[in-house]
Amino acid sequence: MKKIILFILSISLILGITGCSNKEIEPVSRETFALGTIIDFKVYDKDQDKANKVIDESIKRIKDIEQKMSANIEDSEITTVNKNAGKQSIKVSDETMYVAKKAFEYSDITNGRFDLTVYPLVNIWGIGTEHAKVPSQSEIEDAISIIDYKDVVFDEAQKTIYLKRQNQGIDLGAIAKGYVGDEIKKIFIENDIKSAFVNLGGNVMAYQSKIDGSKWRIGIQNPLEPRGEYLGIASVEDKSIVTSGNYERYFEEDGKRYHHIIDATIGYPADTGVISTSIITESGIDADALSTSVYLMGLEEGVKLIESLDGVEAIFVTKDKEVYTTSGLKESFELTNEEFKYKN
Ligand code: ADP
Ligand code: MG
Repeated sequence: MKKIILFILSISLILGITGCSNKEIEPVSRETFALGTIIDFKVYDKDQDKANKVIDESIKRIKDIEQKMSANIEDSEITTVNKNAGKQSIKVSDETMYVAKKAFEYSDITNGRFDLTVYPLVNIWGIGTEHAKVPSQSEIEDAISIIDYKDVVFDEAQKTIYLKRQNQGIDLGAIAKGYVGDEIKKIFIENDIKSAFVNLGGNVMAYQSKIDGSKWRIGIQNPLEPRGEYLGIASVEDKSIVTSGNYERYFEEDGKRYHHIIDATIGYPADTGVISTSIITESGIDADALSTSVYLMGLEEGVKLIESLDGVEAIFVTKDKEVYTTSGLKESFELTNEEFKYKN
């Protein structure tokens, strides 16, 4: 008799557990605008209040980072460094120092193809702003002449950044969103969130796995179609997936498209035959810096760089609708759009 009761009890316990299983947790979703883009949160937790608070805290953190690092905010730390170029060094926060130094590292790795002092060129092109235009050749030459990441002086002890020449400027637009993703992840960890998904305008942070334990399936944007049309799917767990594309931010003049990733050697939007690059790796800041870097390097050199790095994978899309994936993606990436063909 006792045994039977115990048996029934344990069955109902099991049912009880599966009855309120993770599968039924609905995410708390929110959209906000920051860093020049729409940011989309999905946070899964049994406690919806907690999920909401975690999103509030994340948005606060995003605004805080933007206020320090944006080159478009009048009194940000980066704007202050830029205004004082050739004059004096400026004290910055530890995190601005960290992100700028990372940007310097990538400038070095790519031999200046990625260059954190690209601001003068970004500024005269104004892509994504109301004053976007093709600059005159002399404006371009003037800007190119002052772009050189080696002119950034970091003083770790004093916590300052200094630009050696007047009119030089730092732009962290290619890396800051990735850092933001990493900082949001820290907030999720601190609050013991089990599953979340954040999309920062092309920078996706897939935190842990889906709430049912399966992998996140991340659509890789079809660069030739409007946002939300995918060319393939990457299955991932706890990864940042960052895409740089010529469709993200651009303007058209005389039927020609001018996008926002600038080749600082010629002063024009990069045209290497690649129209989109995606990086999949754990660290958001590395993913962001690398997606822009390999976009600028092009397919051949870009693939070489990614294959030399541990735990980093990439998807390249060329203007001939060819797709190239690095060796670690054979199983986890699926090309779903038949217009595109594998190059490898
Ligand atoms: P998105 O911001 O659309 O996600 P990216 O991460 O590729 O795309 O960054 C593009 C931004 O990087 C530009 O808007 C500009 O601020 C900056 N940028 C443009 N050209 C360069 C370059 N050669 N080196 C470093 N940063 C660049
Ligand atoms: Mg980037």
